[in-house]
Amino acid sequence: MEPLVVVDKHTGERLGELPVADAAAVAAATRRARAAFPAWSATPAHRRAAILRAASERLGAHADELARLIARESGKALKYASAEVARAAETFGFAADEARRIHGETVPMDASAAGEGRLGFWLRMPVGVVAAITPFNFPLNLVAHKVAPALAAGDTVVLKPAERTPLSAVRLAELLAESGLPAGALELVHGEGPLTGEALCTDPVPAMVSFTGSPAVGRRILALAGLKRVTLELGNNSATIVEPDADLDKAVPRCVMSAFANAGQVCLSLQRLYVHEEIADAFAERFVAAAATLQVGNPLDPACDVGPMISTAAAERAEAWVEEALAAGARRLLGGRREDALFWPTVLTGVTPAMKVMCQEVFAPVVSIVPYARFEDALDAAGTSDYGLQAGIYTRDLDKALQAVRRLDVGGVMINDTAIFRADHMPYGGNRGSGLGREGVRFAVEEMTSLRMVVIAPS
Ligand code: NAD
Repeated sequence: MEPLVVVDKHTGERLGELPVADAAAVAAATRRARAAFPAWSATPAHRRAAILRAASERLGAHADELARLIARESGKALKYASAEVARAAETFGFAADEARRIHGETVPMDASAAGEGRLGFWLRMPVGVVAAITPFNFPLNLVAHKVAPALAAGDTVVLKPAERTPLSAVRLAELLAESGLPAGALELVHGEGPLTGEALCTDPVPAMVSFTGSPAVGRRILALAGLKRVTLELGNNSATIVEPDADLDKAVPRCVMSAFANAGQVCLSLQRLYVHEEIADAFAERFVAAAATLQVGNPLDPACDVGPMISTAAAERAEAWVEEALAAGARRLLGGRREDALFWPTVLTGVTPAMKVMCQEVFAPVVSIVPYARFEDALDAAGTSDYGLQAGIYTRDLDKALQAVRRLDVGGVMINDTAIFRADHMPYGGNRGSGLGREGVRFAVEEMTSLRMVVIAPS
């Protein structure tokens, strides 16, 4: 079989090649992970924690090397790639903490007449082998969000990183081995989703599939996984509401970053911006002025804000959606320019809810500004989405903020921030079209463990 060739997304230069895993190679990997499970799950928590802590420190020590690798294999601007490495180190640090506090609870058995005289408690047990499948847009930290909690919980892992950005995961596996992780506790398999990913989801060994990626693939995985436990972290078309009392000095630069970081290829990228009509013109003017100063180009340039998208095809698709919106009556306030995979920050207004740039996940540096008159209408519009990952609202009015918390069917509401905010220990995940289950280390550990009830009757 042809090897998987990984290229620099800005220069096209070949960065490396990896063997592709077919179903037989995937089965061999899952068998190795299953063979490693008894010893790893029996490894004392303090020892697992020490290995995860050592891995966190190694990630920190190799931060520059890893940031350059992420920038090259994914096209992410170096400053955001550096932030990703720092986050991955922190994710492993949280997992080291979490490994030490996984525990069960006692159950008051005599609350039922049936339980009189019995002692009951439950334990949290590792599920076994976790199949982890990850996307291209955070090739290190989204791998960390699966591998670190699984290892903390005592599970072993077979990871299939995104085929366009697998090299940071390969480097992470090396750093984990140097940190003392035993052979087989983390296995990597490489290749395209339909071949390698599907073989992993249908292999009988994994007890769980932990997936982050697009909604279409999430649905396919759910159909394939049978009775395996499944968590799905899928897409979004994030909305943020800006009320007239917002502090625009803070809100404007934050919204600009939220729309264009990583060329808009963030599951939480700001896509729908609802701005009260009293401030909409002033907001749009300042937003466009700030967005126009962003540096587009070589991701390794420390001044770069927006690197290339993952592929020319992805940028062409975004361009087509923008053109379609313009043809249907939208107005362009900025951008629309494309050169190969580079797509310049693009701001639209005059959009309608039916346009793809509004109702689907654009996953590109494209944002739409929609003025509104009544707060309730903004809430309705923000909530009209098949997705439900996170939303943001800028207001100093506590009642309005809490109304948004109650009304929006999402996994997280960020007040006085955009939808993009995430710290790696908070519960994170979506409702409805945005997925099933939660990540954030403690919450991923909960997903990756099962409860075992123990009842002791008098002998
Ligand atoms: P993708 O769904 O194309 O690919 C993700 C992974 O799934 C890759 O490893 C791919 O090889 C694999 N895959 C593809 N087809 C498969 C199949 N049939 N069976 C098994 N595996 C298969 O997604 P992408 O383009 O890499 O990433 C972008 C998407 O990920 C966006 O929708 C984005 O919103 C989402 N995302 C979500 C989160 C989150 O936490 N909610 C975070 C980042 C990205």
